[in-house]
Amino acid sequence: MNLRTLKDCNVSQKIVLMRVDYNVSLGKTLRIVDDARIIHTIPTINYLLDHGVKQIRLLAHLGKPEGVYKKELSLLPVAEHLSELLGQEVAFVKTPQEMYAEDDKIVLLENLRFDSREESADYEYAKELAQGSDIFVNEGFGVSHRATTTTTIIPELLPSYAGFGLVEEVNTILDSIKSPKRPLVVVVGGAKVKDKIGLLQVLSKKADTILVGGGMANTFLAATGIDIADSLVEQDKYELARELLAGKYGSAKFILPIDFIKDGTMIKDIGAETIRLFSKFIKEAGTIIWNGPLGVFEDERFSVGTDAIYKELTDNEPAFVIVGGGDTLTAIKGHEALSRIDFISTGGGAMLELIEKGTLPGLQPLLQ
Ligand code: ADP
Ligand code: MG
Repeated sequence: MNLRTLKDCNVSQKIVLMRVDYNVSLGKTLRIVDDARIIHTIPTINYLLDHGVKQIRLLAHLGKPEGVYKKELSLLPVAEHLSELLGQEVAFVKTPQEMYAEDDKIVLLENLRFDSREESADYEYAKELAQGSDIFVNEGFGVSHRATTTTTIIPELLPSYAGFGLVEEVNTILDSIKSPKRPLVVVVGGAKVKDKIGLLQVLSKKADTILVGGGMANTFLAATGIDIADSLVEQDKYELARELLAGKYGSAKFILPIDFIKDGTMIKDIGAETIRLFSKFIKEAGTIIWNGPLGVFEDERFSVGTDAIYKELTDNEPAFVIVGGGDTLTAIKGHEALSRIDFISTGGGAMLELIEKGTLPGLQPLLQ
């Protein structure tokens, strides 16, 4: 995908408005638990500073405040953390008006979603945010699958470019399915078939094998007539599940669990035989894309499948491994051998939609 990057622009003396994805989780003490998304933006910020920009104005959101101020969703801790990472002052401002008046080199505006107009793709809000800036940079891969004021309207008002992190993330994901080292094995789990079915339709054309676990698998199993008792299921997706299994959308082979760990009458994890079965495919894979935990990993009684599959895919050193998804990343956080994963996508939903559709609303305005 050919995105306009900052290399295509003379940034010297420019005021640069930049959308970033600083939607990090804050612990109970409002300390940042995982700063990967902040670190991800540092190369672009440093590039801009090294090339003599006049000012960088950062726009970000945190959580789902739905248009009202919530102290626990303030970006102030993020401003402080960014300042530490950069070794440089980061001014924190509460309103666009304060932002215009600020003359520090780096400014972070308070949570965009304290204003409900961020999510409604609002022209007036875009004008307020863009006022006084010369160019716009999108460095927020994880928010680019939504058409919002910052991702799609501001680019109508200012010359717009992709940040370096965004470019890398988009190209890595697209390349992994366009010309993958084969076999391409997809591991998909998690809870909602509804959200991932489109992805499976596309992946059945591209992948060699799709291993289905987690809550997802229940719908497939039930669709083939297997009794899953009271397990999580989406009955309105049976037909689609049957079509996928029958190869209506592509030739990928679907592999379903063959045994389970149950909690009463509910399936909560894949069993030992299934782990062995899935592992066989993972060991031979050239490329592995993983999204969705294989069980209810939040309860350690049901995290065995997820942990075992994680270990298998990090043990396959020659394979190119991509992992994405909010809960999937939570499930493997702090695990050993994380560095063996070739690419951890900062945006779960965005990664899935990019694979499914080949583009995202927030990328369209950045195309060359
Ligand atoms: P991601 O955020 O990585 O894309 P999802 O949001 O699709 O993943 O799904 C994560 C959720 O799926 C977790 O909360 C997990 O408990 C749940 N889950 C996994 N397996 C099962 C299962 N067998 N039954 C019910 N829920 C499950
Ligand atoms: Mg999730």
